[in-house]
Amino acid sequence: MQAEPPSTGPSRLSPSGASTFVQCPRRWKFRYIDRLADPPGEDALVGNFAHRVLELLLQRPAELRTVAEARTIARSVWQETKEQSDYQDLQLDDEQARHFRWKAWKAIEGLWQLEDPTKIDVRATEQDVQAELAGVPFRGIVDRLEQDADGVIVTDYKSGKAPGPRYSRARLDQVLLYAAAVEASTGELPRYAQLLYLGQRTVGIDVNRQEITEVTDKLAKTWQDIHEACHQGSFDARPGPLCSWCPFVALCPQGNAEVERRTEAKAAQEAAWLTMAS
Ligand code: SF4
Repeated sequence: MQAEPPSTGPSRLSPSGASTFVQCPRRWKFRYIDRLADPPGEDALVGNFAHRVLELLLQRPAELRTVAEARTIARSVWQETKEQSDYQDLQLDDEQARHFRWKAWKAIEGLWQLEDPTKIDVRATEQDVQAELAGVPFRGIVDRLEQDADGVIVTDYKSGKAPGPRYSRARLDQVLLYAAAVEASTGELPRYAQLLYLGQRTVGIDVNRQEITEVTDKLAKTWQDIHEACHQGSFDARPGPLCSWCPFVALCPQGNAEVERRTEAKAAQEAAWLTMAS
């Protein structure tokens, strides 16, 4: 796609901005250059609800971090959530709203399957970390920083489906970047970085210099690619399975074609199954 080159590229990069560009430069342009609306879907809002409850719970004194306290916090967070325009835009009926709350509560309650929150020595929640990493102005929000006898741990909550072992390592780039930013701003390199897939399992990694170098070099390469794309005004479309959930698919001929192709392939497969079964 050729377009007028934007006058400037972005002034900083977050893990979600970097992963959006790697996934599809065209989608990144729609969101970060054209600033088109990218409303969070229901699953993202369920995740926001669960994150907010856990943030407030982990700010309580350790002995108060109980399931009953989480339920009390969830009631008050629900009052805020249902007033938000993003939630109202979902236009859920009563039954769907109950299901929304049920999904959020399953995620919140799922924390206790992974850890005892009364044992966590919390140093910060929702910590804004900004630092220059391998020459890239980086910014991220860390869900939780905690301390144990051996050092600092970076934790991020996830309410989506946990990856299989083959895909786990790729998901850890985000928390490794947070660890690098924590080191750059405090001088202390966290010893461990983990994703808590609520109600499922923990995916974590020992933080070491090699991992930090690899992940920050990857960030620098993405940063360079973004600025080259902005300079040339050229943002490739990378059609794939995620096009079906892309909010910009109506503006993207390649994405539209991909969704149509997948829909037809699925229909043909279903027809073949029905023929075999009859
Ligand atoms: S529809 Fe697909 S190819 Fe098009 S911008 Fe979205 S993700 Fe990229």
